[in-house]
Amino acid sequence: MGIGIGLDRGLEWGLGSDWIGDWGPGTLIIAAGVMQAMRQIRFRDSDGDVRYGELTDDGTIRADPKREGRVTDVVEAFDVDAVDVLPPCEPSKIVCIGLNYADHAEEQGMDVPDRPLLFLKTPNAVASHGSTLELLPGTDRLEYEAELGVVIGRRCRNVDAADAGDVIAGFTCVNDVSNRDDQRVETNWVRGKSFDDAAPIGPVIASSEAVPEDAAVRCHLNGECKQDSSRDQFIFDIPELIEEITAYMTLEEGDVISTGTPEGVGPLEDGDTVEIEIEGVGTLENQVRIP
Ligand code: MG
Repeated sequence: MGIGIGLDRGLEWGLGSDWIGDWGPGTLIIAAGVMQAMRQIRFRDSDGDVRYGELTDDGTIRADPKREGRVTDVVEAFDVDAVDVLPPCEPSKIVCIGLNYADHAEEQGMDVPDRPLLFLKTPNAVASHGSTLELLPGTDRLEYEAELGVVIGRRCRNVDAADAGDVIAGFTCVNDVSNRDDQRVETNWVRGKSFDDAAPIGPVIASSEAVPEDAAVRCHLNGECKQDSSRDQFIFDIPELIEEITAYMTLEEGDVISTGTPEGVGPLEDGDTVEIEIEGVGTLENQVRIP
């Protein structure tokens, strides 16, 4: 059984009575089949081991017991500011949606598409919360894009929109960092979208219950709000996107669908601090370095 992504963890919690007692009321509710709002974080501890845990509202991580060697019944607590936060999942691909907000299509001078515009970001592009993005030198325009990310919880293909909730582990923040110089002159946007550090994700996977239907989607650049919209402005909603994508390809546990960005995109400069905020998920923060 895989570990780390919400759906499998839910199954483990439900099946492993040894674990249920360690986790308190939240886990007991999940084991009983009633999901509640949770935020799952992945991090590296001082031994260098990759760990999973729940991020609580006061910034404490309640970490899963280590699994190698022996299973301990002690739930360890960590300060989120004192650990190395990792991307919350390890996607084999990030499937991105272009032009999923009417206002962004307008600012790009594009028509609203009649079916979702899809493109890919590759795993080399993934970066973690708190990291410095080492972006491409010599480009005139690198831009931020605040997006809600959907994390897939189990391998799936040909998912009906009505069943899409069954394959969603939760939601995260994505910054769809874009290189407009190359994007504007190439068809498949490989140079424009899949360069190293072009896909910061995190800091957590928030369960569906944590993220409202009209969750705010924002970008702050050096503390100034540049994008401010909400999930209910999508042209294509999440179930439609999952049905469309899985008609063409298998999605794996840990894959991410990045659902498009609202109006207000703009340039990144060397030394910037860029924050992507999704209501119910939290804030993904990165520094920018452009040699
Ligand atoms: Mg985008």
